[in-house]
Amino acid sequence: MSMFLYALCVYADVFEFMQRSQRASQLLRQAQHVKIEWGSVSRTDKVLHRHFNIKTLEETNELEVLVTVRKDQSELAQALDLTHELVHALSVQHLDPYNPELTAADYMKTTIEGGGGEVEALIAECQALIEFRQQGFAVDHRCAPYILHQKVSRSKILSAYYRTGEWKERVQKRLGYFARHFQYLSSQKPLLYSSTGNTPYPYALLEEFDMLTAEACLNTHKRIENMEGKNELIAGMRLFLLKRCQVEAHLDEPR
Ligand SMILES: [Zn+2]
Repeated sequence: MSMFLYALCVYADVFEFMQRSQRASQLLRQAQHVKIEWGSVSRTDKVLHRHFNIKTLEETNELEVLVTVRKDQSELAQALDLTHELVHALSVQHLDPYNPELTAADYMKTTIEGGGGEVEALIAECQALIEFRQQGFAVDHRCAPYILHQKVSRSKILSAYYRTGEWKERVQKRLGYFARHFQYLSSQKPLLYSSTGNTPYPYALLEEFDMLTAEACLNTHKRIENMEGKNELIAGMRLFLLKRCQVEAHLDEPR
């Protein structure tokens, strides 16, 4: 059975529900190749598999995308979650953790504001909610503060993602010089929390960046050890280590 047919059987109800919204059904049509499964939280995981052939020195990359939808909720809530996650899943944007120039500030900004990022995903989710409501489905939803006269406000969503409450100082400290580029960053009570932790998005993303960096540094060190004599490639890796793997001011432990 093909992946799509299999998904069609398991998710028939939520897929059918999504047909009531133009935005949701449009995303679903584009996502026939995306792997979807049920779980306890809704999220999208993108894993970049790097295959490195030490003999030919050839490197190939393969991006695996998996969408998980929280099962124990109404079909409407499942449909809204899936709409949101499909925006992430369909985005071609991928931040390479091995890019020597990647900074914590880039990572945070692109993940929140970039194509297929959090702001775009929540806009799609809220647009779908408006369409479901027009069909008579009344529901309390986290989109309510961002909908005005049947329109979704991008600027309200953008500033909501940067409300960090008591985490603001730690986020600013981690961003250092780059903190001044985030005009929306505020200490107002957070409204949106990352599904991977119980912290507001900016803080969760900086933590995620530090984890990804630590892993990429470790892998690069290991690779260099295995590559004596291959000086050209080692030079590229040394540049990465120099730019990204020095001890930096990482996030303080949460109180
Ligand atoms: Zn999201």
